[in-house]
Parts: sequence; C-alpha cells; structure tokens
Amino acid sequence: MSHVFPRHTHKPPPTAVRGAGCYLYDADGKAYLDGSGGAAVSCLGHGDAEIIAAVQEQTAQLAFAHTGFFTSDPAEELADLLAEHAPGDLNRVYFVSGGSEATEAALKLARQYFVETGQPQRRHVIARQQSYHGNTLGALAAGGNAWRRAQFAPLLMDVHHIAPCYEYMLRAEDESAEAYGLRAAQELEDTILRLGPDSVMAFMAEPVVGATLGAVPAVDGYFKRIREICDTYGVLLILDEVMCGMGRTGHLFACEADGVTPDILCIAKGLGAGYQPIGAMLCTGAIYDAIKDGSGFFQHGHTYLGHPVATAAGRAVVRKLLRDDLVARAAWQGDRLSAALTERLGQHPHVGDLRGRGMFQGIELVQDREIKQPFAPEHGLAGKVKAAAFEAGLICYPMSGTRDGKNGDHVLLAPPFIISDAEIDELVDKLSGAIDHAIGSAAG
Ligand code: PMP
Repeated sequence: MSHVFPRHTHKPPPTAVRGAGCYLYDADGKAYLDGSGGAAVSCLGHGDAEIIAAVQEQTAQLAFAHTGFFTSDPAEELADLLAEHAPGDLNRVYFVSGGSEATEAALKLARQYFVETGQPQRRHVIARQQSYHGNTLGALAAGGNAWRRAQFAPLLMDVHHIAPCYEYMLRAEDESAEAYGLRAAQELEDTILRLGPDSVMAFMAEPVVGATLGAVPAVDGYFKRIREICDTYGVLLILDEVMCGMGRTGHLFACEADGVTPDILCIAKGLGAGYQPIGAMLCTGAIYDAIKDGSGFFQHGHTYLGHPVATAAGRAVVRKLLRDDLVARAAWQGDRLSAALTERLGQHPHVGDLRGRGMFQGIELVQDREIKQPFAPEHGLAGKVKAAAFEAGLICYPMSGTRDGKNGDHVLLAPPFIISDAEIDELVDKLSGAIDHAIGSAAG
C-alpha cells in the first residue's frame, strides 16, 4: 500500500522514474512526451545537465541560511537578473517557494502598502471570473474559478470578480476587438466606482489566462486601458504570470506584449523549471520605498524565502534562457506549434478556437462550432482527453470549464522551449487522436 496521499485517491498514478529532454518515463519504461511541461513548469525540459550541476554545487556549498539572518549570493544575483530584465521599475524581488505563495504575498504587500501610506480604508480586491491564482486561502479567494472555490467559499475573503477578456466567447459578433477590449476593461472602472474608489486596493489578473480558460490572451488595448483605470483611482495592478511568465509566451514577461507594467508581478513555475520549487514577487521601487520609509518590515514571511538552492536553480535557469536565446525560441517554435495545430485541428468540427502565444497554446472544444455550444459537463470531456492522451504517451493539460461565462472544455499546451520539430509533430498527432477518441466516447 502506498502511504502517499495522492491528488486523486481513486486512481493512483504510475510512478515517474526518469526525465530526459521532452520526455518522462515511468517505472515500466513507458515514455510520455511532456506536452504541457507538467503544468507550464518544465521550460528547459528534463535532465538539463547545467541546471542539475548548479543545484548540486549550491547544495554542497550552502544548502540553507535563514533570511532572518542572511542573504546569499544566488538570491542576490537572481534578483539582479530579474530586476534588470523586468519591465519598468519592477526592481525589488521577494522570493518564495511557488505560485500561490507569490500571489498571497502580493495581496498582503498591497494591503500593507496602503496601511503604511495612510490609506487603511483600501481593502477591496477586484479580480476576474475564470481565473486561477493559487490554492491557499487568499489566492483562492482572488481566483474566480467557481469549482475550485465552492466548498471553501465560507472561509474566503470577499473578492469582487469581473468578466475576463475572453474574445472567443464574450466578444459580440458586431463588435470590433478594440471595442470589446474597452468594454471588458470598463467593468473594472464600474466596479471601482460601485465599491468606492478610495476603498479598492488592487486588481489582480493573469495577462494570458492559463489553467482556467486555456491560454487566452487579452485583446490589444485591454491591459493598457486597465492600467489607465488603476492609475486614475490609485489602485495597484497585480499581474499573475505564474504560468505565462518566464519566457513562455515568447517574451520573458508576458505583460511586455501588452505594453503595460504592473505595480506587482508574480512569477513561479518556469523560474525553477521544475529543478527547484521557487516563485517570486517583483514590486516597484515606490512600493518598496513606502515599506522602507514606514515600518521597514514587510509583515510576511516563510522559512524557505530566498532558499539558496532554489535561487541557484532560478539563477541558472534565467542565465540559460538569456544566453541561449530560448525566449526567442519559445516564440518561433510556438508559431510552429500553432501552425501545426491550425493545420490539423483548424477545421475540426469540435474545435471552436485555437489561441495562445509562444509555447502557451490552447484548444477550445465545443459540441457545436456554429453556436459555440460547449459539451455538457456530464461528458467530462477534458478528463477523457487527458486519459486518452496519457494512454498514448502524451502529457497535456485539459480542463473542464465550470460553464460560468460559457467556457467549456479546453486543452492547454505548454511544452519545453527546447521541443524539436519532430516532437511537435508527435504532440499534435497524439493530441488530435486523443481528442477524437474522447469525443467518440463522449458521444457514444
Ligand atoms: N497563479 C497561476 C496563474 C497559476 O497557474 C498557478 C498554478 N497553476 C498558481 C498561481 C499557483 O501556483 P502554485 O501551484 O505553484 O502554488
């Protein structure tokens, strides 16, 4: 009997024993092409000798020094690298151990900033429906995924959710993309005005929505308008790039493509590329200075903040991304992946939409393309695609939408940036087979 408490208690998973390049291998020797980098984590693939060496060297040199007493070279140097390459004046970096810790810290920093700058009445957070910001209570409250929240709702703080910018389902037929973006952003202003502008502390959003919608970027102009609205009312803009950041979309930071700089930016996943658990929250010098000139102490912390081995892994990952031009590779190999998906699935009767940026692509499955009607939830289509793909030796990330705001089933792809042309072909082959198999069994 296994004593591990697995995610799905009714179906224990196979044992993964080895990773190499874009593949994982289980104890029976079966190979799985990692088409989703787990969950948008393994941007460099598996078994990267350079990152492994960096982790080994740091472990031998200094495995741990508590940040209550010390800083460390890898933490300092990784922060320098991130600050140098981050947009605008996001020049202070707070290291944590993962995505939920990053978004949780961002919410607390926003609150402390207003307390320390004499605006303690600012307490409301606005976020978006069909978003995911993590599973700890604050992050879960900010997220707008009804299914994940349902049983914990009584424990969650009150967050106000507006609609996401989700062109495929929410743009009206006679509306231009630009007009739709402005309409979607207007919901933020309306909500701020309804709550009282002086009472809102932050708006949180993913620049490209990952798990919950499936690689959905905003239309051009949406985030620029969001930035303007936040500035008008003194609301902090928190962007969650836990999934879409660190080069995945073909920009080191996804918000660069939208031409905006947030006040606080959250990253994780690709930062450690799976070699170490690490996340980070970047904030502007202005926010940092408010804390420095106030109490001088961010009232937040975890034992493993700025962990030397985790930051050494992050430092090696970022150095490699930059030195080997892997962000540009994510952009052009992403275009190739997108073209291969369009060629194979563009006319598929149950593929409603193909979208994404770089190595972050989404496929939306619908029962009826004409009217964009999702499959009924009882089909459990996403789960069937996942199972059929896994059986065929492909790891992809399908999710069933919660049907709030109409979204149905989608598949998220987030392969390693090093994926080859032949591996892209294998991915698309196996995925389209799995989709057909799953739809066949959903219909039957
Ligand atoms: N934010 C986003 C956008 C995510 O996709 C995730 C994880 N899927 C998280 C936050 C939470 O990250 P973690 O699972 O590392 O806590």
